[in-house]
Amino acid sequence: MKKSSKGFLSDLLLSIYPLHCLFMREFSEKLLAWYYDVARELPFRVVGKVHPNPYHVWVSEIMLQQTTVATVIDYFNRWMTRFPTLQDLADADEHDVLKAWEGLGYYSRARNLHFTAKDLVDNYGGQFPSMSKELVKLKGIGPYTAAAISSIAFDESIVVVDGNVCRVMARLHMLPEVAKALEESARLKAQKVMPDHHCGDFNSALMELGATLCSPTSPSCEDCPVQEFCKAYAKNKVDQFPKPKPKLAQPQKYGKVFWMERDGKVFIRKRTEGLLKNLWELPWVEIDSKEFDQIDQKPVRHVFSHFKLGLKVIDADLESEGIWVEKSKLLDYPFSKLMLKVLGTKS
Ligand code: SF4
Repeated sequence: MKKSSKGFLSDLLLSIYPLHCLFMREFSEKLLAWYYDVARELPFRVVGKVHPNPYHVWVSEIMLQQTTVATVIDYFNRWMTRFPTLQDLADADEHDVLKAWEGLGYYSRARNLHFTAKDLVDNYGGQFPSMSKELVKLKGIGPYTAAAISSIAFDESIVVVDGNVCRVMARLHMLPEVAKALEESARLKAQKVMPDHHCGDFNSALMELGATLCSPTSPSCEDCPVQEFCKAYAKNKVDQFPKPKPKLAQPQKYGKVFWMERDGKVFIRKRTEGLLKNLWELPWVEIDSKEFDQIDQKPVRHVFSHFKLGLKVIDADLESEGIWVEKSKLLDYPFSKLMLKVLGTKS
């Protein structure tokens, strides 16, 4: 029987590329073609070529951890106005760095950005290493951020695995794992379809797919560029992947905050340790739920990554270590999001 020209072509391609190579090429080509068509314009994103500024990639990737793109855009633009180059950040005062980060949370990220900027200027000639295995040696740069910088700014063929990529891979391959084990399986699966070039675009495309079409609760599979590769879709089991993580109960903690005001000045102190080190705060102490309930004030509530905290503000006049600041100048100091909420009750 005479073969069609299409059949002849696929036979020829198969004789040149093994089947899995064709699969990989087709997957990445379809994903990239879709991404080039729909990629959202973002101030820290460059599409279709290697990003020329690893400093921008680094700052944006650190900001994007635990924070939405919509929130990061404003912070990123303000940050780049304040510290346009790595050298500017290295030369900055920590007070200004924390102030620029105020409200983003996880303040060790800002302190590490500052530390590593100085390290890069002092010990690396102001240049970023181009490989993730070198980047990961820098303070505050873990495997995720290292892979993001090296693939986006230096075209290293290494996958970046975030929650979006985990979800996409879990559905494409019906991966049964959860949490860290899922992250590792997703990494192996994604690395297999990673191209040798356009690596940053490929990573951004996978994350974009997870952030837009392959969403947690109502994925738009009909518009998905890689639907034909998706096992969960083929078996009508999209809603069963990824498998849910067991929920951990978050402990509830309570505290009382001392509002001390004299002659138009308010007393604040600088934290000397912990996650909020070097940020300013009103003095406060942890109390039990019974004492908390007895204070007749509306509480300020905040959810941290591992616990929830309720605070009630009381007027006080105590002796403590700290400084008195004009009430109108309070916001010149960097405060945590929680303390900004507390200050909001007194404005
Ligand atoms: S087909 Fe649906 S579930 Fe599968 S990857 Fe695409 S959007 Fe996600």
